[in-house]
Amino acid sequence: VPSRLILHVDMDAFYAAIEQRDRPELRGRPVVVGADPRGGKGRGVVATASYEARRFGVGSAMPISQAWRACPTAVYVRPDMDKYASVSREVMDVLRRFSDALEPISIDEAFLDVTGSVRLLTGRATAHEDAGTTIARALKAAIRETTSLTASVGVAGSKLVAKVASDLRKPDGLVVVPPGTEAAFLAPLPVRRLWGVGPKLEETLARLGIHTIGQLAATDPARLESRIGTHGHDLLELARGADTREVARTPDEAKSIGHEHTFGADTDDPERLRRTLLELCDAVARRLRQHGTTARTLTLKYRDERFQTLTRAETVRAGMDSGDALFAVAWRLFTTVHGRRRVRLLGVSASGFGGPAQRALFAPTEPRAADRVRDAIDERFGDGTLTRASLLGADASDAPTPDGKGSRRRRK
Ligand SMILES: [Mg+2]
Repeated sequence: VPSRLILHVDMDAFYAAIEQRDRPELRGRPVVVGADPRGGKGRGVVATASYEARRFGVGSAMPISQAWRACPTAVYVRPDMDKYASVSREVMDVLRRFSDALEPISIDEAFLDVTGSVRLLTGRATAHEDAGTTIARALKAAIRETTSLTASVGVAGSKLVAKVASDLRKPDGLVVVPPGTEAAFLAPLPVRRLWGVGPKLEETLARLGIHTIGQLAATDPARLESRIGTHGHDLLELARGADTREVARTPDEAKSIGHEHTFGADTDDPERLRRTLLELCDAVARRLRQHGTTARTLTLKYRDERFQTLTRAETVRAGMDSGDALFAVAWRLFTTVHGRRRVRLLGVSASGFGGPAQRALFAPTEPRAADRVRDAIDERFGDGTLTRASLLGADASDAPTPDGKGSRRRRK
C-alpha cells in the first residue's frame, strides 16, 4: 500500500482571529467571542477565545460567566456567523486548489489528501516528508495571503495522526510526521490527544494506570476490552497509529464541467478511443475558456461493455484550459483503466476551478493559439465547425455532446 499524504488544517482561534483582523483595536488584546457575559451573570458559552484570552485560562465551551471571572478585562464579542461562514468558504476554496480530496469537518477545520497531487505540486515522484512540508508551507502561505489569517497544519499518513499533529504547535504551527514514525510520535502524548478520548474515558484509563498513548498501545487488548468494552479494540488500533480511514471527497456536481459519450457500438479500436477522448477534452476546454476559468482536476469516467464503471481523477499543479493539457491527463488516466474489454462510454469532467488568486499562486498554462482560433470560429459559426485535423474522419455519430447522448455533430 503506497503511503498517503494527509493534511489536517485547523484555523487558529478562528472567530477571535477574524474579529481581530477586522477590528485593529482588538489586536493584542484578550478577545472572547461568545454569549453575552452580562457582568458575570450571563448564560451560554465561549465560542472562541483569542490566544491573549487563553493566557487567562479562558477556553472554548467554557461557561461565559466563568470566562468573565477569569478575564473581566477581555473584549466580549457576539458571534457573527455569516461573516465566519464566508471566511470559511474562502479558506476551503484555497484548500481545494491543492486537492479535490477535501473533507471539511467543521467551519475551520478540514482534512486534505494530497497524495495524488504530490508530484505536480512539488515536482517530486513520491509522497514523503519533504513533499508534505513543501505543500503545507504553500498552503499556509496561500491561506494567509487570501484571508490574512493563520492556520496550523499537521501532515501524516493518516487522518488521526495528522489531526493530532496539527494541534501540537498552535498557533501558526506545522508538524510533519514521516511515514513509519507514527507510533513513536504518538507514544509520549497524553491519551486525551487521541480522537474520541474525552475526559470520562481519560479518567477510566488513568485508573488502569494508562496515561500516555504509548502505554495505551502496549495494553493487553483483553484487559482493555474487559474495562471499556469493544471500543477498546479500535482505541488500541488508533494508539498504534493505525488509521486507514479515507478523506471523504465531497463532490460538488455544480462545480464541474463535463462531457461524455456513449458509443453506438462498444469499441476497442484504440484510435477511435483516443480521438473520442481528445474531442471530449476539446469540448470541456472550450467551456472552461468560455467561463474564463481553468481547472486543476480532471476526472475520467470509463464504462466497459459489462457496464462496469470506473472513475479516475488527477489534480495537477497548473490550471488547465487547453484541450491538449486536459488530454494529457485524460490519456494517462485512460491507460490505467483500459483493459481487454470493449468500451461503452467515456466521460471527461473538469473541476477545481481557478480564479485570479490561483493564477497568482500557480502559473496557468496559456491557451494555445490553436485553441483561441478554434474558439473564435466556434463563436461565429457554432460548436464543432472546426475540428482537429486528427478528428477528421471520425464517425460523425461519435461526436460527444454535453448531455452525454451521442448525436450528430452540429454544423451550422
Ligand atoms: Mg480551529
